[in-house]
Amino acid sequence: MTTETFEFAYEGQKMRVNTRLFIAGQWRAASNGARIDVFNPSTEERLASVADATPDDARDAVDAAAGVAASWAATPPRQRGEILRRAYELMSSRLDSFAYLIALENGKALVDARGEAAYAAEFFRWYAEEAVRGVGELGLAPTGSNRILVQYQPVGISVLVTPWNFPAAMATRKIAPALAAGCTCILKPATETPLTAYAIATLLAEAGVPDGVVNVLTSSKAGPLVSTMLHDPRVRKLSFTGSTPVGRTLLKQAADQVINCSMELGGNAPFLVFEDADLDAAIDGAMVAKMRNGGEACTAANRFYVHRSVIGEFTVRFAARMSALTMGVGSLQETQLGPMVNRASRDKIAELVADAVERGAQIVTGGQVPDTRGYFYPATVLANVSLDSRLLHEEIFGPVAAVLPFDQEEEVIGYANQTEYGLAAYVYTRDLSRGLRVAERIEAGMIALNRGMVSDPAAPFGGVKQSGIGREGGHHGLLEFMEAKYIAASW
Ligand code: NAP
Repeated sequence: MTTETFEFAYEGQKMRVNTRLFIAGQWRAASNGARIDVFNPSTEERLASVADATPDDARDAVDAAAGVAASWAATPPRQRGEILRRAYELMSSRLDSFAYLIALENGKALVDARGEAAYAAEFFRWYAEEAVRGVGELGLAPTGSNRILVQYQPVGISVLVTPWNFPAAMATRKIAPALAAGCTCILKPATETPLTAYAIATLLAEAGVPDGVVNVLTSSKAGPLVSTMLHDPRVRKLSFTGSTPVGRTLLKQAADQVINCSMELGGNAPFLVFEDADLDAAIDGAMVAKMRNGGEACTAANRFYVHRSVIGEFTVRFAARMSALTMGVGSLQETQLGPMVNRASRDKIAELVADAVERGAQIVTGGQVPDTRGYFYPATVLANVSLDSRLLHEEIFGPVAAVLPFDQEEEVIGYANQTEYGLAAYVYTRDLSRGLRVAERIEAGMIALNRGMVSDPAAPFGGVKQSGIGREGGHHGLLEFMEAKYIAASW
């Protein structure tokens, strides 16, 4: 292993990750030679280092994407689809190595990492199939004077910025539709989890993606790097997944050149359990909605509103399931809950719990930072949470569940909507008409009805209010990378 590669073997599969910048199909050092250290959150030890791109490197990446933009847009959709299909097959054959790499650099439990790798690969499969469905429309103007032709064209060079919580899936959820639509792109992954992004770049080159169509830049100075690209007149699209505060900053910058934006931002999901809910199913669903990815998910249930008649039983049984989870090093088979991604995230969770406790919350299980290496926080359930507690209003992004009672349907809809976020919500009831009625009134882009998970490559994923703009996944995800061109035609 040189300082410029990261290699490992897992379950008989070897992986070698190039850790330099990937521009125009070439692996190269940052223009100033700088590197960034990458750490394993389970051990706090240095894992590897990656190149630290500068704004000059960003301009080179845009040059590369611009150089092949026309040829990639003109590549037959079937050919683009077949490349994406090969990417799906290659990734599917390497799920174990991808999972291990994700567990190493993100810290999440291997079981979660494997789920993510499979989910990430599915975006290549879905968009391999969508690539050939860029169909247009033909209509007659109401006056009868002309035809209205609508054709979908690639939006253009796309800047893709991704977070650390799903290092593979957030990258493929953007790259796959961009490529299917005929766009070239530059991916800027999160600094905490850059290795997975470089492993994906390697895989895409092997799958036959031409040089320059996908470029990857890691940088310790995300602000100036991304700003350089958003102020380059050749760039026409920003697809961002991350926090709402950074999203707001980027929307302002994108305004300078009126860049087309898709924003997948933070969440604060409510989880509603009505008195007629199947409690076994609701507790299974609560474990997934809360604990998938150790609670580090934008869709994670933050606030559990449980009908007063069943809250006692729900809390005891949910807390028993939470406290039974095995916490440990993410890359070990037996681990069910890995560490948080870094010290700051872990400390913020501890701060939110301390705030709730100061305001009268009772810790049913968890609530103590363990005295070990690694950024661990235990699975925690809080009862008697006061309505002014910070964790009801801020994204917790960790394994902490606040359980609160309600009496009336109208009241709980009010609680659910008392947030500036609107990404996901969960509803448990055996009464389908109530379930659909409540689902219609909750201000969220996605509702899970009697389910603990919404994510699906075939479905439009995204939020309302300050959780974002636009959708990823499904046919909607393809259209985010296309512009409708209208031709008024007479014949
Ligand atoms: P973040 O701090 O907003 O960072 C996201 C990405 O933006 C990273 O690549 C980061 O680079 C970059 N970035 C940070 N500051 C920037 C700036 N000034 N200009 C340009 N880029 C900048 O979010 P995070 O902590 O990585 O991820 C957690 C957040 O993502 C949570 O709020 C979560 O809800 C949200 N999320 C949303 C979805 C969704 O689909 N709605 C999915 C997953 C996660 P660095 O790593 O170098 O800072």
